[in-house]
Amino acid sequence: MKKILFVTSEAHPLIKTGGLADVAGSLPKALTELGQDVRLIIPYYQAVSLEQEPTFRSTIRVDNRDINILETRLPDTDVITWLVDYPELYGTPGNPYVDEQGEPWENIAERFAVFSRVAVEIAMNRANLDWKPDIVHCNDWQSGLVPALLSLEQDAPKSIFTIHNLAYQGLFPSTTYHELNLPGQLWNPAGLEFHEMLSFIKGGLVYSDRITTVSPTYAQEIQTPEFGYGLEGLLSHNHEKLSGIINGIDMEDWNPETDAAIYQQYNDTDLDKKQINKTELQKHSGLPVDPEISLFGLVSRLVEQKGIDLLVEILPEIVTTPIQLVLLGSGDSSLEHQLNGLSRLYPDKIAVTIGYNEKLAHQIEAGIDIFLMPSRFEPCGLNQMYSQRYGTIPLVRRTGGLADTVVDAMPDTLKDKSATGIVFDEPSTGALQESIKRSLLLYNDKKTWRNMQKTAMSKDFSWQNSAKQYLKLYESI
Ligand code: ADP
Repeated sequence: MKKILFVTSEAHPLIKTGGLADVAGSLPKALTELGQDVRLIIPYYQAVSLEQEPTFRSTIRVDNRDINILETRLPDTDVITWLVDYPELYGTPGNPYVDEQGEPWENIAERFAVFSRVAVEIAMNRANLDWKPDIVHCNDWQSGLVPALLSLEQDAPKSIFTIHNLAYQGLFPSTTYHELNLPGQLWNPAGLEFHEMLSFIKGGLVYSDRITTVSPTYAQEIQTPEFGYGLEGLLSHNHEKLSGIINGIDMEDWNPETDAAIYQQYNDTDLDKKQINKTELQKHSGLPVDPEISLFGLVSRLVEQKGIDLLVEILPEIVTTPIQLVLLGSGDSSLEHQLNGLSRLYPDKIAVTIGYNEKLAHQIEAGIDIFLMPSRFEPCGLNQMYSQRYGTIPLVRRTGGLADTVVDAMPDTLKDKSATGIVFDEPSTGALQESIKRSLLLYNDKKTWRNMQKTAMSKDFSWQNSAKQYLKLYESI
């Protein structure tokens, strides 16, 4: 059994802004179920939602501050969770990274430097908790200083650093370094310094014993200039300690057999029932009900990363073919505007909902035939996995986690029945359009389509699988 301290800035359902929270909410639970002793540590933000009052565990003195450690459980799990209670930094309204107005916290470097120092005290068993981990598992730049500070300690536990999205690095002016009282030994270009700035993420990349990211393909991609944001050299230099482990999905939340949000539950033995979801979705989206037409869907943040602009560009042309599209998302206001405009222009073809709507996301996954993910980059991606579980065929660009979880329909994969989707390479309108045409040909071959649906539905995207890979990694250090 390993003792693992999981350091994270968010964890579902306590506090969530994105995918990191899903991982931090699921992986510790899955590791616990594999018999490991996992403790979670997060800041006690005002926005953390708890079912019960946490209990007081200890007070520690860090960087001239008295900080309380409170204890709770991650809801619906046995995972002990330590909350870093220091109202001066975390007791303000807003989310972990921005204030109530949506402005990044001015003291964000201090917030996560203090948090990291507390994690180090716990890791070194100096927090009166009578527990010392074998492994400290850090996530994204907010906990990047932990491996760096641990490198200065005697008998420190081993550390792992996971990159959930390399686009966020925690970069600050060099003056911040001194304001945070960080040890001088770490300030050099082979350490926390990055082009004369302080880089939190470098602490994780340089000083951890292992680096992981959330898919094998993204692990390769971030070693290239296109995806590396200037860190590709460091990452390729460290390629021996870098690996990719795909995220799991919540197999209970996303189960077409029990999903209460959809119109008709179904499984892979009664796939005809999926059709009822299609009919209802067409009705509720204001599209003509047509069981034969291929119904495409997309649920996403509307940002450049997701390649929505490529789709917008070709929509006027592809609506001349027999298709419909249901789209749900929010984000970039220009993309929102263009999509709304297109749905007004082609009301029989395109239905657009701007906003965040969990229930509709489920209904779309259950009701459509083909899910679009033309992402420019995608560290892992979840919807392509939800789609497969719902017998919906994902059409994706070959990047990051999409490349690792979708098997392209090619003559050989169709023959050996391993195909589960349609994959294209170039991030271009031409390549996207070509793959949509290809998907229509496949869709019209009913037997082949049904085989693909069944293969997709039988795939195991559970957390158990991924947790075993993390455990292997812990054991290998
Ligand atoms: P990212 O973390 O980059 O946004 P992922 O595919 O990893 O992309 O995860 C996005 C998650 O958020 C998915 O579960 C997706 O269904 C959900 N989601 C995104 N936008 C919306 C929306 N407008 N309404 C409901 N769910 C959404």
